[in-house]
Amino acid sequence: MDKSQEIFEKACRLMPGGVSSPVRAFRAVGMTPRFIERAKGSHIYDVDGHDYIDYIGSWGPMILGHAHPEVAEAVCRAVYRGTSYGAPTEGEVTLCEMIIDAVPSVEMVRLVNSGTEAVMSAIRAARGYTGRDYIVKFEGCYHGHSDGLLVKAGSGLMTQNVPDSAGVPEAYASKTLTAVYNDLDSVKALFEACGNQIAALIVEPVAANMGVVLPKPGFLEGLRKITEDYGSLLIFDEVITGFRLGYSGAQGYYNVLPDMTTMGKIIGGGMPLAAYGGRKEIMEMVAPSGPVYQAGTLSGNPAAVAAGIKTLEILKNHPEIYVRAESQAAKLEKAFLENIKKYDVAAVCNRIGSLMSIFFTKQPVTDYSSAASSDLKRFKEYFAAMLAGGIYIAPSQFEALFVSGVHSDEDICRTELAIGKALGQWQR
Ligand code: PMP
Repeated sequence: MDKSQEIFEKACRLMPGGVSSPVRAFRAVGMTPRFIERAKGSHIYDVDGHDYIDYIGSWGPMILGHAHPEVAEAVCRAVYRGTSYGAPTEGEVTLCEMIIDAVPSVEMVRLVNSGTEAVMSAIRAARGYTGRDYIVKFEGCYHGHSDGLLVKAGSGLMTQNVPDSAGVPEAYASKTLTAVYNDLDSVKALFEACGNQIAALIVEPVAANMGVVLPKPGFLEGLRKITEDYGSLLIFDEVITGFRLGYSGAQGYYNVLPDMTTMGKIIGGGMPLAAYGGRKEIMEMVAPSGPVYQAGTLSGNPAAVAAGIKTLEILKNHPEIYVRAESQAAKLEKAFLENIKKYDVAAVCNRIGSLMSIFFTKQPVTDYSSAASSDLKRFKEYFAAMLAGGIYIAPSQFEALFVSGVHSDEDICRTELAIGKALGQWQR
């Protein structure tokens, strides 16, 4: 028995499913998760000594690669000054200023600890600001695991076949209305029915939790217009896209400005840090400025803030990182497309920048139901072949593949070979 297996068996006796977060458990692919010992750059190493090229990147944060020396040093320095004070620090102000300078629509920011917390808090602020209760989300978009948002919530839930979570009171879920991604008519219908009760519409400007699904031209602009017409707030959940689609996130990329934005992952440089922000008059609703309560013992943690500042500093000063990550991703996309054609596999590839997904379906993937048409048995076999080839991708059809700025040409060559083998396996 290998060491991962041994640790996992112990973990399963002590922790639900043996993990701290469900999709890590490899259940969708029927395998044992690798227990990780360390990671460096684009590689991740498990406790059995396997070396993998990593395309999970901690599910998005590691755009600079693992253990970037400058980020690691910034964190170490911060830790030696004390790990938490429960009091304000100048670093928080610096990080918030960097976020405000980078993200076009954000005028004021609150730091929190996770994407879940950022979204939950943004929604509370939106409700406080508008005095309305309903929110609109899209099928297949994930916005963290707070009660009202576990409705048709994509990835982890699609993978586990849990339609909605147990333990969510009907009364909470009933305040969440769902629309179809890329379908403005489905949004209009909801707003026509009860637009004056809708506090906010929340969307992943590029959906990345049903696999990567791009917004069709005009979709985000349409959401901007509909929400404006009804006095509802538009929230972009940029937990994945923020600082990944470029330094100004998806809103800069598409030039559509939401009222509020949630961020996480990259802004914490791999440490637990997230944020929500938006127009000043909305954010001033948040305590202690305003009546919307939201707080946190570890919020704005100095070590996490140090990692965030250093990460954003590097990204700002080195825009070529985005160019590099995108060009490496484009090579992988090409390899996928060539092998799909060569072996006549029923699969499609969606990509934007350094984010991509391959779906085992014939139809274009533009929303939840087309994503859900994927052949999960095929995905499982593909995943197993990739892992055997030393390539660490998300163990779910409904997650993104994240390319970093430090994936080398050799990494890409090895990955292209693995893609060929994985997609060729059904020919033999
Ligand atoms: N929003 C989006 C778009 C996400 O992808 C995620 C997590 N993958 C979250 C929110 C929740 O973030 P966290 O896991 O940090 O709570």
